[in-house]
Amino acid sequence: MSTKYEAVIGLEVHAQMKTATKIFCGCPTTFGAEPNSQTCPVCCGMPGVLPVLNRKALEFAVKTGLALNCRISPYSRFARKNYFYPDLPKAYQISQYELPICEGGWVDIMVDGQTKRIGLTRIHMEEDAGKNIHEGTAYSFVDLNRAGTPLMEIVSEPDLRSPQEAAAYMRKLRTILRYLGVCDGNMEEGSLRCDANVSVRPAGQKEFGTRAELKNINSFRFVEKAIEYEIARQIRVLEEGGKVIQETRLWDSAAGVTQSMRSKEEAHDYRYFPDPDLTPIIVDRSWVDTLKASLPELPDAKQERYKTVFGLPEADAEQLTAELPVATWFEQVVGAGAQPKAAANWMMTELMKYLNDDNRTIDDCPIQPAQLAGLLTLIDKGTISGKIAKTVFEEMYATGKDAAAIVKEKGLVQISDSGAIEQALDEILARHPAELERLKAGDEKLVGFFVGQLMKAMRGKANPQIANELLRKKLN
Ligand code: ADP
Ligand code: MG
Ligand code: ZN
Repeated sequence: MSTKYEAVIGLEVHAQMKTATKIFCGCPTTFGAEPNSQTCPVCCGMPGVLPVLNRKALEFAVKTGLALNCRISPYSRFARKNYFYPDLPKAYQISQYELPICEGGWVDIMVDGQTKRIGLTRIHMEEDAGKNIHEGTAYSFVDLNRAGTPLMEIVSEPDLRSPQEAAAYMRKLRTILRYLGVCDGNMEEGSLRCDANVSVRPAGQKEFGTRAELKNINSFRFVEKAIEYEIARQIRVLEEGGKVIQETRLWDSAAGVTQSMRSKEEAHDYRYFPDPDLTPIIVDRSWVDTLKASLPELPDAKQERYKTVFGLPEADAEQLTAELPVATWFEQVVGAGAQPKAAANWMMTELMKYLNDDNRTIDDCPIQPAQLAGLLTLIDKGTISGKIAKTVFEEMYATGKDAAAIVKEKGLVQISDSGAIEQALDEILARHPAELERLKAGDEKLVGFFVGQLMKAMRGKANPQIANELLRKKLN
């Protein structure tokens, strides 16, 4: 971006809450069901029905507010947001307007190695609309399975200054929501999506520029690309002497551009008024305290602990805490007696590689945390070498057996008997006189060659440290 301008960005993130049923009726929220198979008179907007708030949705919203440092409103209520669209049969969406469930709060993100605090304006609850389907035939269809799905809208202050910060913010939010178990964060299925408000202003100017709101952003990559495109577009408009107009634009991911959709609607266009069918929400302080006590350790705190208590480097701490089940698994390996850095290394390389290749998550890992700890103990005690350990690991992953059992069964115990190693080494040196001369002349690459030959001869079981020492001794 040109340094003549500064971008200002605020995100409105919609997170689908992971409740079993919808927000105002008992219909299931399972993704991918037969169209209109998960509907009832309430979510179809039939006259004469009454919505009842799903307590779990309220609980999830409050938990999220607590985790994001918000004030939880003791008194909030629902409002009707009126607009007509075929996927909204009531012709209004039940949302929260002047009294949302959570206010204020913040999310810390990392920007160039520094923590930056992004303020939150509010979090409110609302119902999702259905889905219009325009593909295939001359007719359009409406699927109301999604209508009434509980959403949280998390609104940030205009504190973000670049597409990268916006993406980092979105990632951090997703991690926290997944830790809390309130949203699965699945962006392909639309469980987490965002509208990005973007404006630019001449560097140094205090007042914000006019913003455009970008709709339909459903991946981290698109958050960055859409905002990047929009910043460049607005700068171009200003440079050409034009004015940015306040409007809603649609991100077209195929074309990589944002396109004007409609002029921005104002709050008064929606004719908000309190929903007379729903009672105000009065949140009891002691219930909030109970929920607060039930929050898991959050990613930032966990990362800090991994650095201070386990002595892990920043990068390891970050990677291991990105997903709660991975962090829990790691803590179990350490709890079973493993040295933290060794556990981290094995998890981040071997274990993750096997799971990825196998398309598995840590939840259905064939190896148990204590079993990895068992393998690490064998390396520590010198029973097996690090190299053999990889073979043992492969076998553990395939069979679910303990490391010790595999080592015993396959006779993989490391040979630390220097007599046996020396004998094998002598044979190899005798077989390669030319290489030995080069090594003596100072070609250090040959150390690797001889140790490699030795390992081959001893089927990988020679203690590498002893092998190296013996080779050095022979050269002297
Ligand atoms: P609405 O609900 O009509 O979209 P809000 O006033 O609630 O409008 O603002 C929505 C989002 O727009 C917030 O995330 C806010 O931070 C952001 N925002 C407001 N003004 C600007 C601006 N000038 N530039 C960029 N973002 C802005
Ligand atoms: Mg908006
Ligand atoms: Zn229903």
